[in-house]
Amino acid sequence: MTARLTARGIVRRYGGIEAVGGVDLVAPAGRITALIGPNGAGKSTLFDCLAGTVRPDAGRVLLGGRDVTRVAAHARVRLGLARTFQQIAVFPTLSVADNVRVGAEQRRDRADVQGRTERALTLLGLRDVAGESAGAQPTGVLRLVELARALAGEPRVLLLDEPAAGLDSAQTARLVAVLRGLAGRGMALLLVEHDAGLVAELADTVYVMADGRVVAAGPAAAVLAETRVARVWGGAAPDGVTPDGVT
Ligand code: ATP
Repeated sequence: MTARLTARGIVRRYGGIEAVGGVDLVAPAGRITALIGPNGAGKSTLFDCLAGTVRPDAGRVLLGGRDVTRVAAHARVRLGLARTFQQIAVFPTLSVADNVRVGAEQRRDRADVQGRTERALTLLGLRDVAGESAGAQPTGVLRLVELARALAGEPRVLLLDEPAAGLDSAQTARLVAVLRGLAGRGMALLLVEHDAGLVAELADTVYVMADGRVVAAGPAAAVLAETRVARVWGGAAPDGVTPDGVT
């Protein structure tokens, strides 16, 4: 399996707080990797170090075989790393299609911008609202617009920050199908997600963070069934897992 995105010994401090305290993580091609843990565990900080919006104090980020630790976020996008945001970040005055086109235009290779925009709109079921202004859309649709924008650049690695937040059940089902399809075609996906059911359904590999460190990692079913994972994950433990162990 090719490691598409690798974190080695990532450290990031804020004042006296070690938000990420030396984390190793691999997101392989063709796999969905999930990063879970309680609030304040350091997931977002690690995610931002991978995306390039936060510079680690120590450690390295590799994209494919290339060290991108000192490469800016927008340049990582051109190298095939796309992301979505926890806080939805669309351009409200642009149409849905034009928001997606922004993603298509971020690639170094500008060929077929229109085709890539249309394929992403179709994949996410957004054709009916393509001409409408993004600002008029409900949260669930905007999450899909963000994902379509990320995909329009045809990335090799996709970072997703709580992609199911605000989605209804039909939109979540579409999201699951789309993400599985992308992994099936060889993309490396890494998601930060609070929805335990979604993680259990989607992820091949799960990393659990607590207090800035990885406290468990491995195949999703095995990791999610671990007692200590249920403990650090608190109330969000999946069905069949309680803070006292597996029921
Ligand atoms: P959540 O699930 O709530 O998003 P998280 O696991 O993503 O939490 P982080 O947001 O990475 O955790 O936060 C890890 C720690 O670093 C927390 O103690 C947080 O207060 C601190 N921290 C994160 N960003 C900053 C910042 N910009 N300035 C100061 N402290 C920060």
